[in-house]
Amino acid sequence: MVLAELGGRISRALQQMSNATVIDEKVLTECLNEISRALFQADVQFKMVQNMQANIKKIVNLEDLAAGHNKRRIIQQAVFNELCNMLDPGKTSYTPKKGKPNIIMFVGLQGSGKTTTCTKYAYHYQKKGFKPALICADTFRAGAFDQLKQNATKAKIPFYGSYTETDPVKIAQEGLERFKRENYDLIIVDTSGRHKQETALFEEMRQVSVAMNPDLVIFVMDSSIGQAAFDQAQAFKQSVSVGAVIVTKMDGHAKGGGALSAVAATKSPVIFIGTGEHMDEFEAFETKPFVSRLLGMGDWSGFMDKIHEVVPMEQQPELLQKLTEGNFTLRIMYEQFQNILSMGPLSQVMSMIPGFSAELMPKGREKESQTKIKKFMTMMDSMTNDGNMYLFFTIIHADIVCLEML
Ligand code: GDP
Repeated sequence: MVLAELGGRISRALQQMSNATVIDEKVLTECLNEISRALFQADVQFKMVQNMQANIKKIVNLEDLAAGHNKRRIIQQAVFNELCNMLDPGKTSYTPKKGKPNIIMFVGLQGSGKTTTCTKYAYHYQKKGFKPALICADTFRAGAFDQLKQNATKAKIPFYGSYTETDPVKIAQEGLERFKRENYDLIIVDTSGRHKQETALFEEMRQVSVAMNPDLVIFVMDSSIGQAAFDQAQAFKQSVSVGAVIVTKMDGHAKGGGALSAVAATKSPVIFIGTGEHMDEFEAFETKPFVSRLLGMGDWSGFMDKIHEVVPMEQQPELLQKLTEGNFTLRIMYEQFQNILSMGPLSQVMSMIPGFSAELMPKGREKESQTKIKKFMTMMDSMTNDGNMYLFFTIIHADIVCLEML
């Protein structure tokens, strides 16, 4: 993910500061300037970055900090909190509930990734035990129904649409009635997109929305627009009651950070991000775990979710207990590496483990990453069960640095 570069730059700036013999005003300013440069490059709004700098300087008053204080830790925590504030809209969204039909409507501009995302969303909840179904109410784009049909078939999800009916409201109503009758509990409607925001698009969205009475309207947006996401999200919010946003193509655009922070500024919760064209290149988005992974600090709750998906039921309780007790030993890591190889996109899973940033397992170089994991496992084989985690990470990071130097 391109965002891994942003996280890597911020982590390196913090690391460089930690390496300084004395952390004084000059060292702190250099560190914050480098973090700001990284955020500007990700297209984060100037004002937000300025505020972040000012807030951190206010919190971290070096003169007032007594000698005993761990300045490095206080600064790191302040950076972490400020990044979270930047991405936190302060609102949560509706989440589908079992035992009732949840009606979800997708809106967005053409090409944003709406149709692809509908299936990813359905697939995500299918894995969690829901019974999803897809309705194609996009009668504007030729081929929209075929595309949804193809994606749905691949994921083994039932679908409804028409090649002849031109009224999206009629299709949406018919599909909804059928899937409710057949007891589907997550009914997802894909609506038309246009090249730009225009009255006809918004009017059609409003009509479908009135007919469906959705529990949640999700606005899908392409991350490449960066901070312009603010205006786009506002425009959609003013026309239909958008309850959540999904930002797509976070794998390919350096402006992803800007898009995420701009959406947060409209007070709309981002619930997922799209990180590739494939069905499982889709990640639940929560501010703190996201920032934590961005900075290479891991995300245990995300990792546990993945474990529920791949670890045999009978082994789960023991493993989860060890993890919640903070008992993450080399032996457990070794066993989990074996599971990780079957968990899905490596870059996504590895960044959930503290000490591993997504930079270490870059997307698109999965084969290389698998070789790396096998190499780590060989290194662990040569260590005792009491092997030291810190030593292990020191070795693998030194290994990466050596590789980069070659
Ligand atoms: P729609 O017009 O909004 O329905 O957009 P589509 O679903 O047809 O997607 C447009 C293009 O974007 C397709 O080629 C998708 O494969 C691609 N796409 C969608 N989401 C992502 C993503 O998260 N990452 C990448 N790299 N491509 C995506």
